[in-house]
Amino acid sequence: NGERMRVPPWLKMKIPSGNEYKKIKKSLTGLSLSTVCEEAKCPNIGECWGGDGHTATATIMVMGDTCTRGCRFCSVKTSRAPPPLNPDEPKNTAEAIAKWGVGYVVLTSVDRDDLPDGGAAHFALTVSEVKRRNSKILVECLTPDFAGNLSCVEAIIDSGLDVYAHNVETVQRLQRFVRDPRANYEQTLSVLSHAKKYKPSLITKTSIMLGLGESDEEIYQTMKDLRENGVGCLTLGQYMQPTKRHLKVKEYVTPEKFDYWKKVGDELGFLYTASGPLVRSSYRAGQSIDKLL
Ligand code: SF4
Ligand code: SF4
Repeated sequence: NGERMRVPPWLKMKIPSGNEYKKIKKSLTGLSLSTVCEEAKCPNIGECWGGDGHTATATIMVMGDTCTRGCRFCSVKTSRAPPPLNPDEPKNTAEAIAKWGVGYVVLTSVDRDDLPDGGAAHFALTVSEVKRRNSKILVECLTPDFAGNLSCVEAIIDSGLDVYAHNVETVQRLQRFVRDPRANYEQTLSVLSHAKKYKPSLITKTSIMLGLGESDEEIYQTMKDLRENGVGCLTLGQYMQPTKRHLKVKEYVTPEKFDYWKKVGDELGFLYTASGPLVRSSYRAGQSIDKLL
């Protein structure tokens, strides 16, 4: 009937608190580093930045704020011809990250189909600049599919990152309704599988949004396909409609069902599975992954 479903109580915002969170927030002042955590008003910021005595995690977007694609779940601005990359960005971002003191950084980006290498060299340079300044900072790259160009995937891996992430987003049947038509299931699996083959010691990671109309069988099949392609870590979270123009939520998956998928993930042999209504692809990544490296 076109009405939006009521948001269930388990999706209510948590107020960030804790001394570690406050310390990290304060040390960001004056660094001119904008985080996805703050800009997207991520509900997990207290937990990710707090770190519970473990490595704190933050996500930073590189390559500008305008994407050449238009996925139906995503609220990032789109344009066929975004402004050119800022050549100073890799150095400036790395400097700010090294000064900041967060132990685990997720670098992510928009898709830049307008650039011959999809921005891979720029992205890779950002990583190597971070590592050059402080090799102890763990770096995860959450990358585009580079239109299936595997030499771009290799350039990212050669940068010295610790974790390669690329999101499958949804089950095979729903790919074309959810993602930009230039993305697809097979291409995503090939990026993930190539990353693992190219550097077997690398941890690979992906994320699935639930609540878009997928069936249990389809989720299970996706998880099996991911394992078969060497994917080590999996996150599952609730899809939330960012604006009225975006895809509607079909279902609010219960916390119990998310727990069930966590168990399935463990049984299938993922190194770790984070599964919960508010889980996002970078959720507590540092806290979970520093144990695996
Ligand atoms: Fe930041 Fe990701 Fe954690 Fe959200 S889930 S606070 S975006 S690191
Ligand atoms: Fe958003 Fe990424 Fe899709 Fe671009 S490619 S619209 S940033 S999800």
